[in-house]
Amino acid sequence: MPLPRPLAILTPHSKHISSSLLTPRFLGESSFHRRFSTSRIIMALPLFKELVAPNGQKINQPLGLFINNEFVKSKSGDTLTTLNPTDESEITAVYAANSADVDDAVAAARAAFHSPSWSEINPSERGQLLYNLADLVEKNTHLLATLDTWDMGKPLSVAKEEDLSESVAVLKYYAGFSDKIHGRTIDVGPRKLIYTLHQPIGVCGQIIPWNYPLVMATWKLGPALATGNTVVLKSAEQTPLSVLYLGKLIKEAGFPPGVVNILSGYGKTAGAAIAAHEGIDKVAFTGSTATAKSIMKAASVNLKNITLETGGKSPLIVFDDADLEQAVKWGHSGIMSNMGQVCTATSRILVQDTIYDKFIQEIKAQTEKVSVLGDPFSEATFQGPQVTRQHYERVLSYIEAGKAEGATLVCGGTKHGDKGHFITPTIFSDVKDHYKINQEEVFGPFLAIGKFSTEDEAIKSANCTSYGLGASVFTNDITKAHRVAAKIEAGMVWINSSQDSHYAAPFGGVKQSGIGSELGEYALTAYTIAKAVHVNLGTHL
Ligand code: NAD
Repeated sequence: MPLPRPLAILTPHSKHISSSLLTPRFLGESSFHRRFSTSRIIMALPLFKELVAPNGQKINQPLGLFINNEFVKSKSGDTLTTLNPTDESEITAVYAANSADVDDAVAAARAAFHSPSWSEINPSERGQLLYNLADLVEKNTHLLATLDTWDMGKPLSVAKEEDLSESVAVLKYYAGFSDKIHGRTIDVGPRKLIYTLHQPIGVCGQIIPWNYPLVMATWKLGPALATGNTVVLKSAEQTPLSVLYLGKLIKEAGFPPGVVNILSGYGKTAGAAIAAHEGIDKVAFTGSTATAKSIMKAASVNLKNITLETGGKSPLIVFDDADLEQAVKWGHSGIMSNMGQVCTATSRILVQDTIYDKFIQEIKAQTEKVSVLGDPFSEATFQGPQVTRQHYERVLSYIEAGKAEGATLVCGGTKHGDKGHFITPTIFSDVKDHYKINQEEVFGPFLAIGKFSTEDEAIKSANCTSYGLGASVFTNDITKAHRVAAKIEAGMVWINSSQDSHYAAPFGGVKQSGIGSELGEYALTAYTIAKAVHVNLGTHL
């Protein structure tokens, strides 16, 4: 009797095991190896699947790897399964890349980089393709926002009004730069002309996290494509769906085959293969500091150009002359938005001792008033679930650490509901600089509040971690605001706001929060090389 047709192979890194999968466990290890060890099993997953989201949105979801403008199966048949963090139900499996698929994607990107349809394209036409893509993303706002809400758990209203509108704006912003990539002339006297050409780097590997799937994809694709590079982009294994759908729109926008290749896959397989690939000229990464370190090592194999955007433990300083109401509102949204899963979250608030008790009272009241937890598809919801069970358990472990260290639990600190990964918004006060909950990135709805008396103390506490991503200063003293902003070790400082970034300004960190800048004109530098051309205008040596 023929064996039942296996539906998938689980890789050693698979986190989500679909009940519909026939695995060695079900066959029995020895039986599996006897029957299947000489050839890989090709799985029965289709390349597209009709999905119906919890809000009724119908989606013709691509499941394949997007290589050369086509959705294809992974060579090994490997898949990964994505779950709804609200109730842990399975959404779908998608094909997962490993190093052989990365090889194919890199070959496609390399061929596209040299093909006349991309390398000789008029820069304004390159910009037009990005405008086309922006229009298609805008037209599909509801569908794409639905996918990110379903896959990641962020409130639909936020996905639409913040993530999707930012993604469209970023694509348009870089579309406009496509025909404005200017070199320089350098005056060194009459006998010689020097000019620079700002040329694309080549094939760029881009590795993104799960907290803003589409935003992270467009932040990276926009400047890379505007400057004429080609791309192999890997989504996070927790949130592959919207980024795969973007592949469909990239083809529809008219990009030539191979210019953008999108892979779903695990970090330790597909991500590591991208970082170490000798056919990739640059790697741009957003994710944790620990992963950035391993990418940096792997990228040394061919001395890749690198941009790393990593974690943070961003401080928000409140001086006693600040507008308290504003400081409370920004302080709350600065940590609790996106379920605290924001790299620039102002997760530490430092309050001057003269207003310390009042501030705590008011931010507690604001948190209790605003934080409606629940179904992210409901209009009323402010806070959805944490992205995965593993991440949820990690955040809960920091709550225990805070209690054990002697911090005061002001509110929250509990699980919420009987299914899904919900955590009540948690605030600890009386947090000392050296506490673990003050030093380590929690990446959840988790705020640590500490106290200072002088400006010097505030700056010292603000700079006391290994991170340096964002920082906020609340004061009505304009001189003090600028003085403190200059002394804080961070890539971005907001005065009287929090996490108030803009795509036209550089975004990046110092210390262990990253290397290089994304966004703004600065990102154009990150995706080009300045080639110096020396022209001898004299007649002899
Ligand atoms: P992560 O580092 O585990 O994963 C991020 C991406 O890297 C994923 O696509 C993953 O598959 C891939 N990856 C994992 N291991 C890899 C490896 N060995 N080689 C190559 N790729 C690998 O991070 P995460 O936990 O998924 O994301 C949360 C982290 O991202 C937080 O620390 C947060 O601060 C950070 N983040 C930073 C920014 C920023 O701009 N600075 C933005 C968003 C998130």
